[in-house]
Amino acid sequence: MSPSPNPFEPPPAPRPESIDPANGNFAPCPRCGQPIAQRVGFTLWGGVLGPKLFTHVKCQTCGNKYNGKTGQSNASVIAVYTVGSIVVGAFVAIVAMRMLTI
Ligand SMILES: [Zn+2]
Repeated sequence: MSPSPNPFEPPPAPRPESIDPANGNFAPCPRCGQPIAQRVGFTLWGGVLGPKLFTHVKCQTCGNKYNGKTGQSNASVIAVYTVGSIVVGAFVAIVAMRMLTI
């Protein structure tokens, strides 16, 4: 097997290794394909912690918000996170009420 460079090879797509959210290199936008995104600092569903946990970024081209690590929508994660925090919140509230009534 001798290495033969193929001039008709398509330009290399961004590899997963080049996606480094710590250095501001995010996965391309799932809607428009542009890799220019900015971290979202605060969201209604996750406060400050949620977007940090799920690498929630906003596309600078079309404004779409997605997961900068996987390049996919965070919608399912947001749903789970929201339901999870409601369950935890309700649990904490119930425990607090019981402690108050005893
Ligand atoms: Zn976009």
